[in-house]
Amino acid sequence: MVDKVCRECRSIVLSGQSCAVCGSTNLSTDWGGYVVIIDPSRSQIAKKMQITLPGKYALKVR
Ligand SMILES: [Zn+2]
Repeated sequence: MVDKVCRECRSIVLSGQSCAVCGSTNLSTDWGGYVVIIDPSRSQIAKKMQITLPGKYALKVR
C-alpha cells in the first residue's frame, strides 16, 4: 500500500481518505521524499514549507 500525501499541506496521510492536518480530501500517491518535522517553530525547513504542525511531510507532490 502506498501512502498518500495531502496536496494542500503536503502532510503524509497514513490512514483514511482525508488529511489529519487540514481535513482536505485532495490526496496524491505521486510524491517523493519526506521530512519529519518535530518542532515547527525551531525548524528552518518547516518555515520554508510553511508547516505549523509536527508530522511527516512530503518534499515533492505532483
Ligand atoms: Zn492537508
